Amino acid sequence: MEDCLFCKIVTGEIPSNKVYEDAFVYAFTDIDPKAPVHILLIPKKHLKSILEVKGEDFEYINAMVKAAQKIAEEKGIAADGFRLVFNTGENGGQTVHHLHMHLLGGRYMEWPPG
Ligand code: 5GP
Repeated sequence: MEDCLFCKIVTGEIPSNKVYEDAFVYAFTDIDPKAPVHILLIPKKHLKSILEVKGEDFEYINAMVKAAQKIAEEKGIAADGFRLVFNTGENGGQTVHHLHMHLLGGRYMEWPPG
């Protein structure tokens, strides 16, 4: 998609701090981290939100979760725990309309979120 910030991050048109990449997924550090570890995992295909995922596109979600497991281990936050979040739509607080999963860790996560 032409005017999508995260599509431009996948292609390298907009720079990012990459932490992981495979055929389906690109992962990079959040520009405004909300925790000591705050990584965004995105599908390389433009999907607007989790609501748009159908049929074979669930392969992207599988790959994103597998990548999150791997990154959490590598970043040393797996043992103490972490949080995976898909903000979706207005009430969900989604501000970038390219599906993304937040991986947050390195501190205790309060519940419920604000
Ligand atoms: P949302 O609020 O849509 O769930 O999450 C979007 C996230 O993207 C936010 O945490 C925000 O800090 C991050 N973000 C927005 N623009 C950029 C950018 O240009 N680069 C990076 N690395 N992260 C961004």
